[in-house]
Amino acid sequence: MRFAGFIKTTLLDWDGMVACTVYLPGCNFRCPFCHNKDLVLHPEDNQLIEESIILDFVEENSDFLDGVVISGGEPTLNPELHRFIKELRSRGMMIKLDTNGSRSDVLEDLLGAGLLDYVAMDVKASLDDRYSMATGVNVDLQALRDSIRLIIDSGVDHEFRTTVVPHIVREEDVDSITESVRGARRYSLQQFRPKVTLDENLSVLDPYPESKILEMARRAKPRVQKVQIKGL
Ligand code: SF4
Repeated sequence: MRFAGFIKTTLLDWDGMVACTVYLPGCNFRCPFCHNKDLVLHPEDNQLIEESIILDFVEENSDFLDGVVISGGEPTLNPELHRFIKELRSRGMMIKLDTNGSRSDVLEDLLGAGLLDYVAMDVKASLDDRYSMATGVNVDLQALRDSIRLIIDSGVDHEFRTTVVPHIVREEDVDSITESVRGARRYSLQQFRPKVTLDENLSVLDPYPESKILEMARRAKPRVQKVQIKGL
């Protein structure tokens, strides 16, 4: 298994944990606001990192590392993910998985095997026709609903996240998004950053003002246990 990125130590990617973060190349979505466009569009162009480098680092530093964040791209597309997580587990690591939720079968397998300690799933828009606008592809919405239910019912710590991109996520959409994750432990509103975006037209788009995002957080609160705002 090979990786497109490896951050050896971070306190930012998993609250309260000292972790390293690995990035798997390739994704089945084409979100116009994606900041990882090279990893998504040209995964073969990345200088890939061998799995042994990551496992050796984890083993040598297991005294201070709490866990590993597995991100992407979309990690659940890799058929070796289950095996890799078991390798990390055998070295004493806890596991956080970042996912777009499109592979509910993979999530079911990993959760059923007790291999995950935290799941962060993107819910990019209302689960209706707007979803394809947010992802740039046709999405199996039932698979997303299945993933949401699996995560909430698993008892594993979790978070659902929405990047609030103007025109894609409207203020009122927060009602239906949080209805679809009702009861979740955490729901995060992530400010849109028009830096490097997969669709260059979005790089000139102004983000929502802080007041709008605070109003979205107020709308979200009744349906989830905790609301977080990131990137303000
Ligand atoms: S933002 Fe979208 S396109 Fe980019 S990695 Fe995540 S799911 Fe894939």
